[in-house]
Amino acid sequence: MALLEVKNLKVDYPLRGAFWSKQKFLHAVDDVSFTVERGETVGLVGESGCGKSSIAKALVRLENPAAGSITIDNVNIADLHGKALRKARKDFQMVFQDPYGSLNPRLSIQSTLDEVLALHTNLNKTERLQRMKELMQMVGLDSQLLPRYPHQFSGGQRQRIGIARALASEPKLLIADEPVSALDVSVQASIINLLQELQKQSQFGLLFIAHDLAVVEHISDRILVMYLGRIVESAPADELCALPLHPYSAALLSAVPTLEKRVGKRLKLSGDVPTPLAPPCGCAFHERCAFATERCKRERPALREIAPRRFSACFHAQENGLFTCGKE
Ligand code: SF4
Repeated sequence: MALLEVKNLKVDYPLRGAFWSKQKFLHAVDDVSFTVERGETVGLVGESGCGKSSIAKALVRLENPAAGSITIDNVNIADLHGKALRKARKDFQMVFQDPYGSLNPRLSIQSTLDEVLALHTNLNKTERLQRMKELMQMVGLDSQLLPRYPHQFSGGQRQRIGIARALASEPKLLIADEPVSALDVSVQASIINLLQELQKQSQFGLLFIAHDLAVVEHISDRILVMYLGRIVESAPADELCALPLHPYSAALLSAVPTLEKRVGKRLKLSGDVPTPLAPPCGCAFHERCAFATERCKRERPALREIAPRRFSACFHAQENGLFTCGKE
């Protein structure tokens, strides 16, 4: 069984309305299913507002799912509450986008790491200090820096501390939500390489969330492409980037200049992402899709396997086999 198995996940946010009217909801994540194996990196990519971060928050239970199951190592964490949930958190940790905002400015790095170790391990004080030194070394920081405070570090160093904190409980699953998007381009690669090295050593499952397909391609074994709350394509990273099977994936790839040759002529996205408050009927992408037909406006395509390990929620791809977007 997969390390992480997400089935039919829904995340809703209540909308404000008049007190006498029926409660309405924004459906941020709508019937999403996927898996992450031990030692595997799955990239989750899509434009901002597509529901990626809502999935991340649901996985670490910062949001309560409206429906569906989230099974980590055979435990459905969507059903856990209170003490049982606190105990289970040891197994899944998150690296946040903003390395400064996610660290308590009043706590030294030593106190930050000690808090996690005291909560999730049985180590005594001396053993915890030893473990903190090891963690600092693992993320490429000098253990002499433990007494310092977050503001005394650069953005890249703070993200390394965020990673050390996430790994302190030796999680089975790490969820990295846009971990490099707040960092200078010059330090992004070093953080990605660090995550890859650490995963090789510890074999945790990694869900790597980003809006930049070039970053996701570099680190992922498999990629999930998300659009307006749903997964529209799922495939091995190299295959998806060589030949996307959804026009939205093709458009995201076209936006990466170095990949332009691989997808034929440039496929530009027209229009804006529709609001999830009033999603279009049929295929949610039809208003921006160069291949849309009348059927696309009426029916919503399900995510189907159309080649081994290649899933697409697109009628065009399902009917025409391998999708050669941009070359027609
Ligand atoms: Fe475009 Fe139709 Fe495929 Fe949707 S189902 S992506 S509108 S071709």
